[in-house]
Amino acid sequence: MTGVGGQLSGQPIVVLPEGSSRVIGRDAQRINIMVAKAVANAVRSTLGPKGMDKMLVDEIGDITITNDGATILDEMNIEHPAGKMLVEVAKTQDEETGDGTTTAVVIAGELLKHAENLLDQEIHPTIIIKGYTMAQEKAIDLLNEISDPIDIKDEKKLVKVCMTTMASKGTIGKSKEKLAKIIVDAVKQVAEESKDSITINQDYIKIEKKQGGNLEDSELIKGIVIDKERVHSGMPRKVENAKIALLDAALEVKKTETDAEINITSPEQLQLFIEQEEKMLKEMVDKIVESGANVLFCQKGIDDIAQHYLAKAGIFAVRRVKKSDMDKLAKATGAKISSSVNDLSKDDLGYAKSVEEKKIAGEAMTFVEGCNDPKAVTILIRGGTQHVVDEAERAVNDAIGAAISAIEMGKIVYGGGAIETALAVKLRDYAKKIGGREQLAIEAFAESLEIIPRTLAESAGMDPIDTLVKLRSEHAKGNKNIGVFIDKADIGDMSKIDVIEPAKVKSQAISSAAEAANMILKIDDIIAASKKSSAPETGGPQGGMGMEY
Ligand code: ADP
Ligand code: MG
Repeated sequence: MTGVGGQLSGQPIVVLPEGSSRVIGRDAQRINIMVAKAVANAVRSTLGPKGMDKMLVDEIGDITITNDGATILDEMNIEHPAGKMLVEVAKTQDEETGDGTTTAVVIAGELLKHAENLLDQEIHPTIIIKGYTMAQEKAIDLLNEISDPIDIKDEKKLVKVCMTTMASKGTIGKSKEKLAKIIVDAVKQVAEESKDSITINQDYIKIEKKQGGNLEDSELIKGIVIDKERVHSGMPRKVENAKIALLDAALEVKKTETDAEINITSPEQLQLFIEQEEKMLKEMVDKIVESGANVLFCQKGIDDIAQHYLAKAGIFAVRRVKKSDMDKLAKATGAKISSSVNDLSKDDLGYAKSVEEKKIAGEAMTFVEGCNDPKAVTILIRGGTQHVVDEAERAVNDAIGAAISAIEMGKIVYGGGAIETALAVKLRDYAKKIGGREQLAIEAFAESLEIIPRTLAESAGMDPIDTLVKLRSEHAKGNKNIGVFIDKADIGDMSKIDVIEPAKVKSQAISSAAEAANMILKIDDIIAASKKSSAPETGGPQGGMGMEY
């Protein structure tokens, strides 16, 4: 501890603006650790296939039912800074890998819990941080050694990776395999392979969800689905051999500026003005027709008169398409986005076997299908209720992230707590070699990783201590794939039941958990500015939902 922080619960002497508050030294650490533990505790029960769901109710009464760590933490509106740091861990994990958010947060909470014990034994935070950092680095090295290779061609294994990710989303039940296959197909389709690297941009996998039907009706469209109808009923409902123009300008005549007003003094003049406008719109449409396009996606508006001419020309047109959808359409059909009809030429057009307006659950959507080797695709998720569709979307998102993580790093490990136990056992050996006080911190790190098998065991109604003892002894014998066999309430070989996870999900979870724990441990002074409305508070998380400590 530094400077003033050395005095326990000492009254601050520093003059701070009125209303601000300050907590220093061990008290600051205690509060931060307590908050972080509370946040981790709030999501811990959701871990794994037997994990529970949370029902979140927001200010206006909207309900979200989910098992997704990142979503839960996001909706909880945690305000305490230490709590927010754990929310950040979940967010980073979600962005980097798409999965493992609960794991990351739970490990971070556990690291801090064990750090507290070490602090109580008068071990200086600097030593703990050093030990944790050493343990984290070693864990990542070990993870690389223990992991098995995976390739974009290992379709079956990738499907299992996706299924493991979705295992915890109970709502989607039996449809996991169907969804997993769709996801792997989608990922393979958008993958751009060069000589020695594969890039997969998750943005090019569009997820479109429509309530109605059931999850089994979900499908992969090798093209793009736009949640919009054609702009005019006189247009064809379906266009085959579609030649697609993408336009990011409006098909409208610019409204005259206020300072350039026109004086219309006679009916003839008005008529002339209208004719003029019509003529300009007709010319715009003519340019589209000339380019050879029979489908138009316009990012901006399309004037009624232009709609009429487009319909007359047999062009299928959609207006006010989102920018992100325009990009996906370009990627899928090979079209170039033009910023003016004047620039539009034959070479800018994209291709799809068909563009069709279809009714899905009573709502019109536009399907652009049969593109040539499209590098953007759509997963259409169907489901009985909005809650199911929403949770399925989160599951699909996680699984896409997991599949991409597996392919990009090319490495997988076995889940069910197998990898965490393997790392813990090896880290304890490593700790012994290091010795000194750091040894205690490294051992604490090992124990923290075991929160994963421990929680999975608890969720299956098994005795957590017994299970850990059994797991450790298997791993000491070198059986690196033994984890918690949840359905049998026993331990078992995870490679036999295909509980496979991307190594990247684990390395990211371990690294960001360690970083967050270290950052929190480094703090020995919390200075809170006064809040504008209410009295300042530094203890405990605030926000809409209560939490147990
Ligand atoms: P996270 O947000 O961390 O991904 P999840 O709720 O998805 O949390 O749970 C993931 C954990 O569940 C992982 O440790 C994974 O190995 C484990 N898991 C998934 N399926 C199984 C299974 N069939 N048996 C045992 N463990 C499983
Ligand atoms: Mg998960």
